[in-house]
Amino acid sequence: MTTLIAQNMSAAHGQLTAVRDVSLLLEPGEMLFLVGANGAGKTTLLRTIAGDHAQGSGAITLSGVDISDHPAHLRARSGLALVPEGRRLFPNMTVRENLMLGASTSREGPWTVAAIYEAFPNLARLDRALAGRLSGGEQQAVAIGRALMGDPVAIMLDEVSLGLSPAAVDLAYDALRKVRDMGLALLVVEQDLNRAIAQADQIVVMCEGRVTLRTRPQDTTVAALAAASFGQVA
Ligand code: ATP
Repeated sequence: MTTLIAQNMSAAHGQLTAVRDVSLLLEPGEMLFLVGANGAGKTTLLRTIAGDHAQGSGAITLSGVDISDHPAHLRARSGLALVPEGRRLFPNMTVRENLMLGASTSREGPWTVAAIYEAFPNLARLDRALAGRLSGGEQQAVAIGRALMGDPVAIMLDEVSLGLSPAAVDLAYDALRKVRDMGLALLVVEQDLNRAIAQADQIVVMCEGRVTLRTRPQDTTVAALAAASFGQVA
């Protein structure tokens, strides 16, 4: 069954329409990269799908269930997780405490703190470290772990590599590939077009709120993605 279908989504900030008629479809175990210049509407789209921003129109189906009318907390409970830009950990709490905050109270799934540490061994030794003291890459791993603790079927990640060293970005993507290989659907906002081509199953480019290109990595180039980011439709 298709994991996530967002159909004809639109969303606005006051008078400004930030997302116009965007549709996305993710199968289990698929990584879709959403790219586009600053202000293209990527963050607004993710927040709208998560239920954190008012939906102008459109429909969202998660694992066959229409969640369009569900508030954010019920979407999360149904298995839709959002890792926001900047990761938003609690800096004065430990890694374990941050992970526990993501724990689902209603869904039964494989993810426990122990399972997270097994999947991401570099986090285990940081168990009692304060999140605010970690490197950007380590914080990103905690944020992904926290999302997994809710036993999601789909995770949306905003600006995965922002502020991370190249080595930390590699680690974050190693973690994401593991998660994808477990059958989760991943919707990833990424500025780095080379990274998108290297990792994606699908790539969707947005410009000024609209989709300008929908492609697969083997069928495109960085130049084509860049052109579509600036509104040039191939
Ligand atoms: P970035 O890479 O800069 O985060 P983005 O593709 O995620 O860009 P959005 O942040 O979704 O784009 O912004 C889409 C449009 O909505 C932009 O024109 C932006 O200026 C506007 N916008 C975003 N947030 C707000 C807000 N809180 N109030 C008013 N306008 C906003």
